Amino acid sequence: MSPQDARTFKFIESQMFLFARGNWLPLKRVLPLYRKSRFESTYGVCDPTKGIFIRIRWDNGRPLHAYAIVDTMAHELAHLRFLAHSPNWFRLHSRILLCMSQSNLFQRLKRRMNTK
Ligand SMILES: [Zn+2]
Repeated sequence: MSPQDARTFKFIESQMFLFARGNWLPLKRVLPLYRKSRFESTYGVCDPTKGIFIRIRWDNGRPLHAYAIVDTMAHELAHLRFLAHSPNWFRLHSRILLCMSQSNLFQRLKRRMNTK
Protein backbone atom coordinates (compact mmCIF):
# COMPACT_ATOMS: atom_id res chain seq x y z
CA MET A 1 0.00 0.00 0.00
CA SER A 2 1.40 3.41 -0.98
CA PRO A 3 1.96 6.05 1.74
CA GLN A 4 -0.94 8.07 0.29
CA ASP A 5 -3.27 5.06 0.38
CA ALA A 6 -2.13 4.34 3.94
CA ARG A 7 -3.05 7.92 4.95
CA THR A 8 -6.40 7.64 3.17
CA PHE A 9 -7.05 4.37 4.93
CA LYS A 10 -6.14 5.78 8.36
CA PHE A 11 -8.70 8.53 7.76
CA ILE A 12 -11.36 5.96 6.75
CA GLU A 13 -10.56 3.89 9.84
CA SER A 14 -10.84 6.84 12.25
CA GLN A 15 -14.13 7.96 10.66
CA MET A 16 -15.55 4.44 10.88
CA PHE A 17 -14.85 4.35 14.63
CA LEU A 18 -16.38 7.80 15.03
CA PHE A 19 -19.64 6.85 13.28
CA ALA A 20 -19.71 3.45 15.03
CA ARG A 21 -19.53 5.18 18.42
CA GLY A 22 -22.15 7.75 17.39
CA ASN A 23 -24.57 4.95 16.49
CA TRP A 24 -23.72 2.55 19.36
CA LEU A 25 -22.22 -0.05 17.03
CA PRO A 26 -19.65 -2.57 18.35
CA LEU A 27 -16.88 -2.02 15.78
CA LYS A 28 -13.66 -3.88 16.66
CA ARG A 29 -11.28 -3.17 13.76
CA VAL A 30 -11.11 -1.79 10.23
CA LEU A 31 -8.77 -3.39 7.70
CA PRO A 32 -8.07 -2.80 4.03
CA LEU A 33 -9.66 -5.28 1.64
CA TYR A 34 -6.56 -6.21 -0.32
CA ARG A 35 -6.15 -7.00 -3.93
CA LYS A 36 -6.14 -10.69 -4.80
CA SER A 37 -8.28 -11.53 -1.81
CA ARG A 38 -11.11 -14.04 -2.12
CA PHE A 39 -13.49 -11.06 -2.21
CA GLU A 40 -12.39 -9.97 -5.68
CA SER A 41 -15.38 -7.91 -6.70
CA THR A 42 -16.56 -6.88 -3.23
CA TYR A 43 -16.49 -3.32 -1.90
CA GLY A 44 -16.42 -4.30 1.75
CA VAL A 45 -16.97 -7.15 4.19
CA CYS A 46 -18.19 -7.31 7.79
CA ASP A 47 -16.85 -10.42 9.57
CA PRO A 48 -18.47 -12.24 12.54
CA THR A 49 -15.90 -10.80 15.00
CA LYS A 50 -17.15 -7.25 14.25
CA GLY A 51 -14.23 -6.43 12.01
CA ILE A 52 -14.83 -4.57 8.77
CA PHE A 53 -12.77 -4.76 5.57
CA ILE A 54 -12.97 -1.81 3.18
CA ARG A 55 -11.59 -1.69 -0.35
CA ILE A 56 -10.05 1.52 -1.68
CA ARG A 57 -8.59 0.12 -4.96
CA TRP A 58 -9.66 -2.50 -7.49
CA ASP A 59 -7.34 -5.32 -8.53
CA ASN A 60 -6.18 -3.31 -11.56
CA GLY A 61 -5.03 -0.50 -9.24
CA ARG A 62 -7.84 1.89 -10.11
CA PRO A 63 -9.11 3.70 -6.99
CA LEU A 64 -12.75 3.37 -6.01
CA HIS A 65 -14.80 6.56 -6.13
CA ALA A 66 -15.17 8.37 -2.80
CA TYR A 67 -18.97 8.02 -2.95
CA ALA A 68 -18.65 4.23 -3.30
CA ILE A 69 -16.29 4.07 -0.30
CA VAL A 70 -18.59 6.23 1.87
CA ASP A 71 -21.59 4.12 0.88
CA THR A 72 -19.66 0.94 1.73
CA MET A 73 -18.59 2.36 5.09
CA ALA A 74 -22.25 2.97 6.02
CA HIS A 75 -23.32 -0.38 4.52
CA GLU A 76 -20.84 -2.43 6.55
CA LEU A 77 -21.36 -0.43 9.76
CA ALA A 78 -25.09 -1.22 9.56
CA HIS A 79 -24.18 -4.93 9.29
CA LEU A 80 -22.63 -4.72 12.77
CA ARG A 81 -26.22 -4.73 14.07
CA PHE A 82 -28.24 -6.42 11.29
CA LEU A 83 -26.65 -9.20 9.23
CA ALA A 84 -29.33 -9.48 6.55
CA HIS A 85 -30.33 -6.71 4.13
CA SER A 86 -33.58 -6.31 6.04
CA PRO A 87 -35.77 -3.19 6.39
CA ASN A 88 -34.09 -2.59 9.78
CA TRP A 89 -30.66 -2.83 8.20
CA PHE A 90 -31.70 -0.39 5.44
CA ARG A 91 -33.08 2.08 7.99
CA LEU A 92 -29.81 2.03 9.96
CA HIS A 93 -27.74 2.25 6.76
CA SER A 94 -29.73 5.32 5.72
CA ARG A 95 -29.35 6.92 9.15
CA ILE A 96 -25.57 6.41 9.15
CA LEU A 97 -25.35 7.85 5.60
CA LEU A 98 -27.27 10.91 6.77
CA CYS A 99 -24.82 11.40 9.67
CA MET A 100 -21.93 11.03 7.20
CA SER A 101 -23.51 13.53 4.84
CA GLN A 102 -24.02 16.04 7.66
CA SER A 103 -20.33 15.84 8.53
CA ASN A 104 -19.28 16.34 4.86
CA LEU A 105 -17.53 12.96 4.87
CA PHE A 106 -17.82 12.59 1.09
CA GLN A 107 -16.12 15.94 0.40
CA ARG A 108 -13.45 15.33 3.05
CA LEU A 109 -12.60 11.86 1.73
CA LYS A 110 -12.61 13.04 -1.90
CA ARG A 111 -10.23 15.87 -1.04
CA ARG A 112 -7.86 13.45 0.73
CA MET A 113 -7.89 10.97 -2.15
CA ASN A 114 -7.00 13.72 -4.63
CA THR A 115 -4.11 15.08 -2.55
CA LYS A 116 -0.78 13.73 -3.67
ZN1 LIG B 1 -24.43 -6.10 2.81
